[in-house]
Formats: sequence, C-alpha cells, structure tokens
Amino acid sequence: MSHAVTHTAARAGGGLRFAGRLLLAGPLLSACSAGSDAGNAAPEDGRLLIDGGTVVVVDEAGTVLEGGAVLVEGDRISAVLEAATPRPAGVPVLDATGHLVIPGLINTHGHAAMSLLRGLADDLPLMTWLNEHIFPAEAELVDPEFVYWGTLLSSIEMLKSGTTTFADMYYFRDDAARAAVDAGIRAVMGPHVIGFPAPDFASPAATLADAAEYMERHRDHPTLVPGAAAHSLYTTPFEDVRAALELAVEYDAPFQIHTAEDASELATATELTGMGVVEALESIGALRPGTVLAHSIYLSDEDIERIAAGGAGVSHNPQSNLKLGIPRAAPVVELLAAGIPVGLGTDGAASNNDLDLFDEMDTAAKLHKFTNADPTALPAETVFRMATMGGARVLNLHDRVGSLEPGKRADIVLLDTRRAGLAPLYNVYSHLVYAARGSDVSTVLVNGRVVVRDGRVLTVDEAEVMKRAYTFRDRVREVVARVAAEAR
Ligand SMILES: [Zn+2]
Repeated sequence: MSHAVTHTAARAGGGLRFAGRLLLAGPLLSACSAGSDAGNAAPEDGRLLIDGGTVVVVDEAGTVLEGGAVLVEGDRISAVLEAATPRPAGVPVLDATGHLVIPGLINTHGHAAMSLLRGLADDLPLMTWLNEHIFPAEAELVDPEFVYWGTLLSSIEMLKSGTTTFADMYYFRDDAARAAVDAGIRAVMGPHVIGFPAPDFASPAATLADAAEYMERHRDHPTLVPGAAAHSLYTTPFEDVRAALELAVEYDAPFQIHTAEDASELATATELTGMGVVEALESIGALRPGTVLAHSIYLSDEDIERIAAGGAGVSHNPQSNLKLGIPRAAPVVELLAAGIPVGLGTDGAASNNDLDLFDEMDTAAKLHKFTNADPTALPAETVFRMATMGGARVLNLHDRVGSLEPGKRADIVLLDTRRAGLAPLYNVYSHLVYAARGSDVSTVLVNGRVVVRDGRVLTVDEAEVMKRAYTFRDRVREVVARVAAEAR
C-alpha cells in the first residue's frame, strides 16, 4: 500500500517553490522488487541513492523536493525521499548537490539515423525538401550501416541532452534497434511502411511479411519497445496503413503516423482515402491510445473531438514545423484543453537541426504565446509535463516512465545548476524550459543504469562514432553530387 505525507507548500507568485511530499510505496526500502526483466543492465549491486538535489517528481501534485533523494533498486525507482527523511544505510550514493533531478525527457517523434544528413539541405519547402533532396538521397545511401551508425550518433546526442526515451520512424529496424540497445537508451521503433520502394523493403507487404517476428522478439525487452509505423496517409496506400496499425494493435504497441503536417497533404490523403485525414484514421480504429499523431497541425474542431474520443496522442514538433515554414502552429492549447495527451518531438535532425528537447521546450512555450498573443499560454510547468509525462502518455508508456514515482523505471537526469546561465534558481520549471540547455545535463540513468556520467557517455565509444559520422559525410557528398548531376 502506498501512503503520502504532505507538508507545507509555500509559494510566492512566480517565486521559489517548496512542495514537499513524501512518496513511499510500502515499507521504506523494499517497495519494489528489483527488475526481473531479461537482459536488464542495471548495476549488479542493484541499489543507488541519488541524494541532495532538487527532485522534480512530475506527479499529479507537482511535487518538488529540495534536498530530496531518489532511491533506485535494480531497474526501478523504489522511493522518493524528502530532505528530512532518514536515508537507508549501506546504499551507494550519487551526490546530486546543486543539481536538478528530473525524469528523463521523452522524444515522441523522429528519424534518428537522419542525423547523418543534418544540414544537408535546409531552407526549402517540405515537399521540395522531401521529394527532391531527402527521398533520393535516402534511396541511394540508406543501408544497415548507415542506420546503425546514424541511430547511434543520435542516441548519444539525445542521452547527453537528457532524453532517455525516443520514438523512431525509419528503415532497417533491426540495425536501428541494435544501435539503441548498444547506446542504452529506451526506444520505441519497429516496422515502418511507406508506399514506395524503401531502402530496406521493396513494398509495404514485404515490410510487414516478417514484422511479427520483430515484435515478438522484442516484446519483453527491458528498453526496446517494439512499435509499428506508417509514414503518412499521403505517401502510403490506405490498406497498408491499416495493416501496420493492425500489427500494432495485435501487440498492444505504439503506432506512429505523420498527420496533418502540411496543407498540401490534405488533398492527396483525401484522394487516397475518400475522407479527411483524421476521419480516415478514425475509420480504421487508429485513434486509440498508443497512436502517435506526429505534427497534427491542420485539425478542425471535429478532428480534435475525434482524437479526444479515441484516446490517441499528439507529438508536437515546433522547431521542425517552424523551419519548414508551416504557416500555422499545431493547436496545442486546444488539444490539451480537450484532454488529449501531447508530447514533444524533435523530428529528424535534418529538419530541426538538433535533438535537444530543452531547446524544443523553449520553442514550444514561446511559439504558443506568440500565436495566441497571450503570455499565459503554455506555462513552463505545462511544457515540462509535455516533455515528460505527456510524452509517456502519448506512447502509452505512462505506467513505466515519465515521472520519478516509486514503481517507475529509473530513467533519471541530473542537471548542474551551479553555472552561469542557471544560477541563481528561483523556479525549477522556469529554468528547465527557458534557461537550461541539453549541455547542462551531467548524469543520466536509463532503466537504472548510469549511461552518462559527468557529461560522458559510458555505453559506447563516442570518438569512434564521430569518426564514422565523418566517413559517412564523404559518402553522402558523393551521392548527392551524382543525384544532382543526374537531375540536370
Ligand atoms: Zn517526421
């Protein structure tokens, strides 16, 4: 049984906030059995006390504990302790003095391997960018090696900037999965259908032929969450979108699809389905919990009602949308008011051009104040929730990740606030959304395992990955020059 003791919550308008709440599940130290998942990479001794920082819990009450502690046992958080609570004896301590201790951030939409195409083609409209630059380059370049090293490169960037879970939509699922597992990051990825010959499979049918085996193989993996994806209704035949969805439904897995991103896609999607985009998704049962509607910009009031009724979530990618010149913003304020789960995404590095969710939070908060002409729109705490619990709900992983509550997987990020740019500290959410950068992250745990320590990745050889990135650059340049010459 759990119990909670609430004590003084003192707050001055916009000022320092103490909200103390003792969170224990059962007896102090044995609340949760340590991870029993196969292949768990938690420390052998299994216990770690992250002590002395400001713990931002992201529970319903918005608890923030100054001088608090998080007890990790195996792959789980077993207790969150306030400053005055006695600490368990004999547990190794990670000193978090001067740090914010937050749930790992959740990137709900992206194409990880595209970090190898970062900065290749910028400042173009979406359809020109896709059809004349990205798709032809991908057709020539993307192979298992490209996907492995590109996904590894992105995983390093994300871990070092505080992202512990990302949803990915790309090709060569086994190689992408291998990279995510090697990096030690939590990832949602798997079969991805698109209505033209993709680098990995010649058709959606070929993509799906053996897809159940992938889903089966990863279903109990500690950090790899199998999911299915269809690129969009405007690139993929409706029956193939449906087939990919059915795979996700069968495995109770997330399903990702680009939705209402650009005005020009609406006519194509309507031609292919005979319905509006959201209406078409509703007609095949796609608007269920765990479906990630990436972008969701061009939505009507009826669309919002449909999404709310179905339980699907929205991945909001403000920097990608801004960079591609989409002339309106996703109706995030309305989506949240309708109770729809909303998370943040970076989209691929080629359209952002970084994978730093701190940067994305800052942009999201400011974009909606601008478009609503209202400085009270999307307050910092709301935006921080989008990047944590919101994202967890979008991916239907909210029972596992998204907050620092007992029983959750230990996906934990520490930021050093003792530096110019973050000192002094009055309000944690203000700092997290408006001031912090990914480079302020010092230490990261995923599934109870320390994967970044003092800004260094511990799981893979970062120097080797950087070397590979430059090798790929040479190949990309060569192919792009040839594609351009052939197009002339
Ligand atoms: Zn995308």
